[in-house]
Order: sequence, then C-alpha cells, then structure tokens
Amino acid sequence: MATPLTTSLPERDGANRFVGKGSKSEDTDPLAAQLKTLGLYVMAERYADLAEQARKAKSPYPHYLSALVTAQLAARIDRSFRNRLTRARFPTIKTLESFDFSFQPQLDERHLRTLADLTFLEKAENVLLVGPPGVGKTHLAIALGVKACGAHKRVAFYPVLELMDELTQAQAGGALPRKLLELSRLDLLILDELGYLKLDPTRANLFFQVVSRLYEKGSVILTTNRRFETWGDIFAGDPVIAGAILDRLLHHRHLIAINGPSYRTPELTGGAEPETGQ
Ligand code: ADP
Ligand code: MG
Repeated sequence: MATPLTTSLPERDGANRFVGKGSKSEDTDPLAAQLKTLGLYVMAERYADLAEQARKAKSPYPHYLSALVTAQLAARIDRSFRNRLTRARFPTIKTLESFDFSFQPQLDERHLRTLADLTFLEKAENVLLVGPPGVGKTHLAIALGVKACGAHKRVAFYPVLELMDELTQAQAGGALPRKLLELSRLDLLILDELGYLKLDPTRANLFFQVVSRLYEKGSVILTTNRRFETWGDIFAGDPVIAGAILDRLLHHRHLIAINGPSYRTPELTGGAEPETGQ
C-alpha cells in the first residue's frame, strides 16, 4: 500500500485551513511530511504559523507563499554560511566589526575596508599582512576569511606549519596530488604565521607548490612577522626558492603593514620597529 505521505492531501480543519504541526504528529500532518520529504524543513515547521498570520492580516496568497519560501531560503543561506565557516577551519571567529582601528592608527583602515568588499578575490589578488606579534594580523586575516565565507567562497585557514606537516604526510602516503588539487580549488587560502619557525627543504618546496597552484587562480592571505628580505632564512636558507615564492605572492598583492603596539601586551610595546615590508 502506498504511504499516506505521498498520496494523501494535507488535512484541513473545519474552516478549511491546513492543519498545522502544533501538537499533531507527522502522521496526521501530511503537508509537513511532504515538505520534509522535499527537504523543506523550515517550511514544514512554519507553514501553519505563517498561514495563521496571513489569514489574520488578510494577505494575498502569493505573499504567504513568499514569506514561507523566504524563511526556507534564509535558513539555507545561513546553513551554507555555517558549513563554509566549519570547512574553513578558523581557530576562532573574528570580524572587522570587532577590530578596534583606533588602537592601530598607522594601519590603513580604508585599504582594509576596501579589501572587505572582496574584489581582491575576483582578481585572484593576494593580501600580505606584515608586522610584529599581537598587532591583529591573524584577526584581520580571519575577518576577511569570514566575509569570504559569507559570499559563498571556498576558504581554508591553516597555520603554515600545520599545512606543511599535512602536505608532508600526504606526500609520504602518495596523496599529495589530491591534496594540492583540493587547495588549488580554493577561492581563498589563509596561511597564518609564516616566519616563526624555519621550513626545511621539503616543506619549503611544498610551500612553493601551494603558492604556484593558486597563482592567478585563487587568493592567498598570508600573515608574517618577517620582512621580505629575510625570507631566504625561512625557506631552508634558500634565496632562490624564497625569491620564486615572493615573486608569485607579490605579483598581484595588497600589502598591509601593521607597525603599532601589540594588543596583547600594549604596555610592552610602545610601537614596533618600522616595517617596510619590501
Ligand atoms: P597577530 O596575529 O598579529 O599576532 P592577533 O590577530 O592574534 O595578532 O591578535 C591578538 C589578539 O588581540 C586577538 O585576540 C585579537 O582578536 C586581538 N586584537 C588585536 N588587535 C586588535 C584590535 N585592533 N582590535 C581588537 N582586537 C584586537
Ligand atoms: Mg597571528
């Protein structure tokens, strides 16, 4: 026998209104069951309440339908945003709104706000955030990443060393091509904290491969405490590979130098060394 879910019409009450969820179970609320079968859980949940509101307000049928579809759509957008945030693997969520620009008067606020419109992603440009510890580099990188997730972009956040370790393991297990392909499909790769520790030749080479794959295809946001002239040190003491990496990263880039005090320990840093960045 066919299930009532697909064959029966939704029940109506004495006033010819669809019977809402309320205390009724799915068995006695076939419309809700049908909507759920279609994956429209929010509509299943809300159709009765909204119908009641529409009835009271005497709104036209299309308005009711529109309110219902809007509710479902809003939930979907919200879910897709949350999924993207989860997939991006941010260590914590930071926003531009929670960044106190008055604490970093030397920071080019206008430039950052322009970046937040995300046109740099359309042009596959990179953003380099350079400065000493605690000035908000990671905060700003995450904030831009969160904005990108909100714009349906594919984003991933990695501390540099973590990604290099993951890639080294992938290489050992024969999974490097797949992992690189995955990275090359991103709209935005955030590489956090380049420079605190040196990379060995294998990791320096892997870093180069990642940057090459994304070059002119996707954007990189990189945070670093190191001036570009010292990058040879970071990349296994090899100025050639450091040069090749810089070349690709800097070709289409926005440079944000932050030279103010540390937000973590403002009392210890009245202002950092000047950072030219290049
Ligand atoms: P960095 O990556 O430059 O070392 P972080 O971005 O990790 O610094 O910042 C350290 C902490 O201080 C974080 O919790 C960050 O949210 C906060 N922070 C830094 N600068 C600001 C700022 N200008 N306004 C608000 N919070 C800030
Ligand atoms: Mg940081």
